[in-house]
Amino acid sequence: MRLISRTLLLSWITFVICGLPLSAQTGFDASRAFSYLETQCDFGTREPNSKGAELAVNYFKDMLEPLADTLHLQTFEMNDPYGAGKLTLTNIVARFQPEKSQRIILCAHWDTRPRAEYDGRSPATPMLGANDGASGVAILLEIAQQLHNNPINPGIDIIFFDGEDYGKPGDLQYYLLGSRYYAKHPYPPMAQQVILLDMVGDAELSIKVDPVSYRSAPRVIEEIWSIAAEIGYDQFQLVQGSAMYDDHVPFIERGIPAIDIIDFEYPGPDNQYWHTHADTPDKCSPESLEAVGNTLLSWLYRQ
Ligand SMILES: [Zn+2]
Repeated sequence: MRLISRTLLLSWITFVICGLPLSAQTGFDASRAFSYLETQCDFGTREPNSKGAELAVNYFKDMLEPLADTLHLQTFEMNDPYGAGKLTLTNIVARFQPEKSQRIILCAHWDTRPRAEYDGRSPATPMLGANDGASGVAILLEIAQQLHNNPINPGIDIIFFDGEDYGKPGDLQYYLLGSRYYAKHPYPPMAQQVILLDMVGDAELSIKVDPVSYRSAPRVIEEIWSIAAEIGYDQFQLVQGSAMYDDHVPFIERGIPAIDIIDFEYPGPDNQYWHTHADTPDKCSPESLEAVGNTLLSWLYRQ
């Protein structure tokens, strides 16, 4: 994703904790989720047209086929803006109760960046993307297991987008390739709410509120952050963070409320691991995956 602007912490958003104390026992298995993050990284870098990308698609298919009611590999091609050939991109779409009209999309990008432009030593080579790529997918693979075991009221589409992180800095049109394609070619019925996870594995997790998301769906932000506070996850902070240009934007542009749960301080405010070769599994933790996964599942079971 790209940063739209870095905003100062302007104000606390007041909120009220309501409802009964919530158990953190949703069944979310954090160590299993972390193993999904490690497995993706074991495939190597997963930029478009790479061997790692091919291995990852096969892995997602094998994992999700027995869990979802229907699984689509949505493949599309485009000319490579940075080379002579074509890019083949694949969105993974795992649908639970696809007949239901009331639906929620849970999504993350699975591709990793073909360059690590902020790495001082090797800026031109592909990066591993443990946090920026694998972390959101790992949580959603574990949530897929839980939805299979305990179906919930709304239909759910778990979508892994390709090509989120392909563009060079400044080339906004070459980011968000998979989500843009899906927003134009969704499988009906279309969801009424989109929840995006990105960079949610940082061992020093601190999730502030993306103002683009807050403008789109303030009630959902307040509910999710409130549930995190109820459980006791202080990784969620109801304060304004940076404004994000990420896979939620194509949906907002089509009038569908969408939020991005993202920690854009990796590991701290200087974001020094972001788009570098330091974005590796040892910088992430099962505890961080659990805070996000458990909070999101708890919110889902209340819908
Ligand atoms: Zn990125």
